[in-house]
Amino acid sequence: MSRKKIVAGNWKMNMTPSEAVALIETLKPLVANDEVDVVFCVPAIDIIPAQEAAKGTNIQIGAENLYFEEKGAYTGEISPAMLVDAGVKYVIIGHSERREYFAETNETVNKKVKKAFEHGLTPIICCGESLTQREQGITIDWIRQQIKIAFLDVTAEQAKTAVVAYEPIWAIGTGKTATSDQAEEVCAAIRACIGEIYDEATAAAIRIQYGGSVNGGNAAELFAKPDIDGGLVGGASLKPDFGAIVNYNK
Ligand code: PEP
Repeated sequence: MSRKKIVAGNWKMNMTPSEAVALIETLKPLVANDEVDVVFCVPAIDIIPAQEAAKGTNIQIGAENLYFEEKGAYTGEISPAMLVDAGVKYVIIGHSERREYFAETNETVNKKVKKAFEHGLTPIICCGESLTQREQGITIDWIRQQIKIAFLDVTAEQAKTAVVAYEPIWAIGTGKTATSDQAEEVCAAIRACIGEIYDEATAAAIRIQYGGSVNGGNAAELFAKPDIDGGLVGGASLKPDFGAIVNYNK
């Protein structure tokens, strides 16, 4: 099964709407690569101007979060229908920063994943261990638990289209990248876990990214691993280096 690579930028809480448009203008020519799905996950307020700026390019605009209710008295939240109406296809769910600072849990991640699928959005489901967990040797157990809960009551047909981002917390924004062997070990374990929950065909179809200090210098080695189908990129997604990551195969 050949899976199309997917490289997604996570802008986090960076870029005002006008800065977003300027950054897309700069990156547009650098990220042209039809062999890769290129997604810019941007702050909610940037989505509409970013869509406009990316028109006619291969850049797809994604969101960084959604809420798991349809509508109503949830001040400050963004509904899945709002994202769909704004032309969004991908949405990051359960990033470790949201788990750490905004009290997201495996259970809220699961609610958001199901809601995203209900609305035809593709979730980029984040998982990852802390340094302490890695040192204690419980990485794989921890990730399997995150995956099993994230996919509760998700059908195989939905799971096949999902994206999972394996992001060791100790590698996010630290400049410390997991080695390609460390990243592959966990991505392979995630695929095996999906195979246990569903079946071989689902495991073979789902796309699994690595995230954690990916840059133009390490992307090719990471993405060459059999179970790594691209990357979720924070810091480098705001720089011309993002073009080198997207064009890792050139
Ligand atoms: C991220 O925020 O998902 C991430 C991987 O960040 P960075 O690339 O900066 O480590």
